[in-house]
Amino acid sequence: MTTRLSPDGIALALHGGAGRILRDRMQPARDAELRASVARLLRNGLARLEAGAAALDAAQEVVAALEDDPQFNAGRGSALTSEGGVEMDAALMDGRSRAAGAVAGVREARNPIALARAVLDDGRHVLLAGAGADRFARERGIALAEPAWFVTAERLAELESARSGGRLSLDRDEPGAFGTVGAVARDIEGHLAAATSTGGMTNQRPGRVGDTPLIGAGTWADDASCAVSATGHGEAFIRAVFAHEVDAAVRLGALSLRAACEHALARVAALGGAGGCIALAPRGEPVAVFNTPGMVRGWIVPGHTPTVRLYGDEG
Ligand code: ASP
Repeated sequence: MTTRLSPDGIALALHGGAGRILRDRMQPARDAELRASVARLLRNGLARLEAGAAALDAAQEVVAALEDDPQFNAGRGSALTSEGGVEMDAALMDGRSRAAGAVAGVREARNPIALARAVLDDGRHVLLAGAGADRFARERGIALAEPAWFVTAERLAELESARSGGRLSLDRDEPGAFGTVGAVARDIEGHLAAATSTGGMTNQRPGRVGDTPLIGAGTWADDASCAVSATGHGEAFIRAVFAHEVDAAVRLGALSLRAACEHALARVAALGGAGGCIALAPRGEPVAVFNTPGMVRGWIVPGHTPTVRLYGDEG
């Protein structure tokens, strides 16, 4: 990807999951609609950054909008566990201070990323899980939703198909829906942030937690090195400590951000995992890498129209 930087280095990138996103399986209307909605989110997010919004706020807002869109595996439309429920994970990290907030296995927060932000702002802990995290959401007045609100007909069909095949699947292994969501941003003051949110994997065991809410696995931001949001087979991303591996390869190995992402993804692949990430360099250069057939992804910098790509053959 060759994106010329604007002088101020504001940048925003997002993903909507890596997986079997194939041109010949996508309806043209759906392709067009998806590209339009990703482009709209990027334009809105860039406008916020240009107006002076912090990278952390912009990344959170983009992820919240993707959580609200039932096509994506986060918030409403989350992948379902083997028992048919939702257990959502989310995390965000502020590259300015490496402050981080995350939640795992939450069932009630309408926007799990808002709950992760409340954990960050509270500052006492980094990761809250399960019933305690749900209680924290109620105490903090985070908007909640009934269990049925999160469940869509499409995800129920995917669960049925995964169950009958005895599979644990990345949601996009099934036709028709998209994935985990994430955003990375660089603001006007040069700070980076990353945010990621997911319903996990279809047919996962209740209680399973993936890489998304684990700082350094699925989510990472440090102004000195990079902001990273990952998607894919969480177990392999955890075992590769993926996002921190990217950071370390930039910081200690002096690799370019793209080379660092490729290096970290090779370590995921060596463990049998598939997926990808979006990332921003300290000066805001966007990078997207993946080893699946496709990944919903896009980026924008001032003075340019958004770039939106879905398939592997789009570069
Ligand atoms: N990484 C997520 C998880 O393992 C799933 C995904 O990215 O689709 O929970």
